[in-house]
Amino acid sequence: MELAPGIVCIGDKTRGYVRAFLVADGKELTLVDALADTHPFAVLAAIRRLGRSVTDLKRIWLTHAHFSHLCGAAELRQLTGAKVCSHEWEADIVSGDRKAQPVSLVPKRPLRAYIPFQLGLALGLGDHPPCPVDDVLTDGHEEGGLAVLHAPGHTPGHVGFWSEKHGVLLSGDAIVTWPEFAGGWDSFRLNAVQQKESLRRMAALTPKVVGVGHGDPIMERAAERVDSLL
Ligand SMILES: [Zn+2]
Ligand SMILES: [Zn+2]
Repeated sequence: MELAPGIVCIGDKTRGYVRAFLVADGKELTLVDALADTHPFAVLAAIRRLGRSVTDLKRIWLTHAHFSHLCGAAELRQLTGAKVCSHEWEADIVSGDRKAQPVSLVPKRPLRAYIPFQLGLALGLGDHPPCPVDDVLTDGHEEGGLAVLHAPGHTPGHVGFWSEKHGVLLSGDAIVTWPEFAGGWDSFRLNAVQQKESLRRMAALTPKVVGVGHGDPIMERAAERVDSLL
């Protein structure tokens, strides 16, 4: 599914409809998040569908270090030579040197998101193939047609990405549409105050389209809908 010319959404029903995005900027491709499969067949198929080759993938930018979003990163990095980047706070989780920060064991809404996600995280499960991080992402950095937006709350080093040219916001897990439209999952929010501020920054961009971390993209009245989360 295409969010705008050259911005493609990838993913199926697994891992809570987890999503990744390929962004073309001239000849270069950027992958935002790497899905939950260790073998990145869905990403490779999407690259082929765009008529590109794997070596066109220059960077793999991770919104945060929850395993549903990064299991494919290690193999993709090897196959393509792309640089893997995350916020500094998430980097040692991606590289396998630290566990993802656990959340409460008390089930919270939405319950469909609780298992296996929250339970796995609470118990320290959900290991991904460790992946070296080549560079860290800082707020405001621009490359490959995207600007980095530090958007903590869901995790401390959570980032979103903004395509000014297309009015497309890639929100990561700061916004989800599965199993319902929400400003992230209650069960996963590590810091509600930061999350609210992150949503404010996202709303201020007045996006035309939002590609979310879980669920279908928001293709219509996106700015109005993000605003409704404040
Ligand atoms: Zn997450
Ligand atoms: Zn997620």
